[in-house]
Amino acid sequence: MAVPRVKANHDLFEELRLIAAEQGARLGVTDCGPFDSVREGIVERVTSGASARLGFTFNDPELATSPRRSFPWASAIVVAAVPYLRDGDGRDDSRSVARFADGDRYDGVRHLLGELAAMLTDAGWRAEEIFDDDRLVDRAVAVRAGVAWWGKSSMALTPGLGPWFLIGSVVTDAPLEPTPPMDRSCGTCVACMPACPTDAIVAPGVVDARRCLAAVFQSRGAIDPSLRVAAGPRVYGCDACLTACPPGDRALEALEVGSTPSPLDLLSMSDRDLESLARHWFVPGRSMRFVRRNALVALANEQRPSHAGVLAGYLGHPDALLRCHAAWGLQRVGSEDALTILEVALENEADADVRDEIESSIAALAGHASANMVSTLIEPDRMS
Ligand code: SF4
Ligand code: SF4
Repeated sequence: MAVPRVKANHDLFEELRLIAAEQGARLGVTDCGPFDSVREGIVERVTSGASARLGFTFNDPELATSPRRSFPWASAIVVAAVPYLRDGDGRDDSRSVARFADGDRYDGVRHLLGELAAMLTDAGWRAEEIFDDDRLVDRAVAVRAGVAWWGKSSMALTPGLGPWFLIGSVVTDAPLEPTPPMDRSCGTCVACMPACPTDAIVAPGVVDARRCLAAVFQSRGAIDPSLRVAAGPRVYGCDACLTACPPGDRALEALEVGSTPSPLDLLSMSDRDLESLARHWFVPGRSMRFVRRNALVALANEQRPSHAGVLAGYLGHPDALLRCHAAWGLQRVGSEDALTILEVALENEADADVRDEIESSIAALAGHASANMVSTLIEPDRMS
């Protein structure tokens, strides 16, 4: 069925646009018609497993791509691209927490949507704010409203900010005319693809969530061993494809470099303090064991022998998931003590998964030790 076009009301849109511009946000409008091609893409990813059983808009693709199902009374979606970078977000590859998750970055979105909705309701229209919500594919909404273009990283990009913005919408029955799509694209750039530490961008615009660290850190269970080294210093979120994106350079370069909590700090915190720090993160079941799991991998990736004691402590943790990651971490740290710690732990370990992890760490460390021995033995010949 054709989507009915609403009567233009340029004055109303202009007032909304000015409110957004005061906050540095870009504004557009789209209709409430379905996002058929986006739905097909989501269904394909769910079917192929590339969605990694994540929830969000994967939960109900039909709902997420059919605004009329959730808002049958609405005629338009006003969508805003709201910048979220702040001081301390400058270029730095050693961050443990991605910029969007470092504190409550939706503050600006909430504030702006509140003002837009108030303006619409004052004018006599119905308005409902929506952001970060399973009922709406917000990146697709932003692209159709001409606020952004699809990047090869699968992020939505906008001029001047690149990928460094959050999306918020106000659904309304106000007679607003859709704004035209943006005439921009990534062109010949492919910088985000090789920048991804896990090769998760499998084709332009297609991310395999099973390999995307942002999704992996939000999942249950053990982190795939093949992704652990690539996870680097990250504990939550991943900015690698964003920092590589040239359209975002100017916004990033203008900022000082700040600091994020170290993995050691996170592992030393009580569950209560960790819960407070991670209150804006998606953590399965709100269980801090998953944050500790991620932090163990990040700590191990620092490869500091001085961390062997902390990892040994987690090797005695009541949670088998954490013992597994501590065992892997000891192998990664590779201190002289690590082998002994693992051998002693193996004698007392009853859990089959943890035993497997300890045994493979012992094998790797023992192999490393014997390789070193061989290289020491052949060294005199090399010198001759
Ligand atoms: S968020 Fe990180 S892991 Fe995911 S696609 Fe981007 S660079 Fe790759
Ligand atoms: S890095 Fe280049 S290709 Fe990737 S999203 Fe940004 S502009 Fe597009």
